[in-house]
Amino acid sequence: MMWDEKIECMSLEDMKELQLKRLQDVVKTAFDEVPYYHKRYTEEGIFPEDIQTLEDIEKLPFTTKTDLRASYPFGLFAVPQKEIIEIHTSSGTTGKPTVSGYTKEDLDTWGEIIARGFTMMGIDENDIIQNTHGYGLFTGGFGVHYGGQKIGATVVPISTGQTLRQIELMKDFKSTMLIFTPSYGLHIAEELKEQNIKPSDLNLKAIGFGSESWTEEMRQQIENKFNTPAYNIYGLTEVMGPGVAMECSEQNGLHLNEDHFYPEIIDPNTMKQLPENTSGELVLTTLTRVGMPLIRFRTRDITKIHHETCGCGRTLVKMDKITGRSDDMLKIKGVSVFPSQIEKALLSVDGVEPHYQIILTRPGVLDQIEVKVEASPNLVFDNVKELVGTRDKIAQAIHDEIGLRVNVNLVEPKTIDRVDSGKAVRVIDKRNE
Ligand code: ZN
Repeated sequence: MMWDEKIECMSLEDMKELQLKRLQDVVKTAFDEVPYYHKRYTEEGIFPEDIQTLEDIEKLPFTTKTDLRASYPFGLFAVPQKEIIEIHTSSGTTGKPTVSGYTKEDLDTWGEIIARGFTMMGIDENDIIQNTHGYGLFTGGFGVHYGGQKIGATVVPISTGQTLRQIELMKDFKSTMLIFTPSYGLHIAEELKEQNIKPSDLNLKAIGFGSESWTEEMRQQIENKFNTPAYNIYGLTEVMGPGVAMECSEQNGLHLNEDHFYPEIIDPNTMKQLPENTSGELVLTTLTRVGMPLIRFRTRDITKIHHETCGCGRTLVKMDKITGRSDDMLKIKGVSVFPSQIEKALLSVDGVEPHYQIILTRPGVLDQIEVKVEASPNLVFDNVKELVGTRDKIAQAIHDEIGLRVNVNLVEPKTIDRVDSGKAVRVIDKRNE
């Protein structure tokens, strides 16, 4: 069942036509109504009439979180403040928060895109959605709320916390859908176990989760603990909130609502667009946002996109699960490498511990990569043959993953520095020393 079959199953050609029309409109509105864009575009000598094809979007400069902060609080609004009926902000853990303003029409759109996602998950007006996302400046709570009401479901706006109460209501109300962040979901699961409540004692039929990074292993755990399929919800406050992309029954990627958000994947080093099915940074342009249009917003999230007719019947572009942040990406010998790729490769080899460092040097003109990794205590250091064998296996696994030769340095257990708190130092880049 589709929420909006015309859009969700639209041919690529029709979608591109719709996107171009909307892109031209949004660029014109931004240029005419938002001083930030007017100034930027004038400085760069680019004007709304230069957008003749979708490819022309590459002529426009990017917008970043820094630009949003510089326009704090209301500098990016394209309508008078009296037309903005709701405001959300990012958490603002580093500096000023970024502000997101919504008109009545924007809130309708927000509800609409989440309604599409809930329909993908098999939720309709008969369902009871227990929303444990926080209600407040964070977009999670309200986004889910508007979407749930849009499809006519019964929304229980309990917000985060009060776990015992959550469980009591899940039982009493017979909630059929739970919305949570993965970490809070695992907490609820622990409490259920504590109280000897089995998934079969509940009425859940779907879980919607988001707002945190996650692995497929974590999804598995959640699905097992609740004995219910769990679907990913992606979004970000600046662009709208949750619902920018949502997972369908196939559970292998998210459908991005490309009639409202135009996606591009760029190489964060060259800033050039990459073809479909190539991993890079997701850049989004709002095509219908009235209150605060955002053009070429750099999300920093790494993923890839691809068009195909999905098993669920939809043609809306699919986006893979986010694999990292562009801030973590390394450029080595011209190749984009994520530390997580090296980690994945080396952990696939027996005999090593998950303690490692990637050391980059440039002795002459070429980059060199050394991967220092701790051997397992059971790897016998006296056995040279075994040692060399393990080292070669690691080098091969990394080469298979990133396509580059690395020098592997197997070191004795517990010889790589540990940190007491925060993140381990995984990358040491000495190339500019
Ligand atoms: Zn699908």
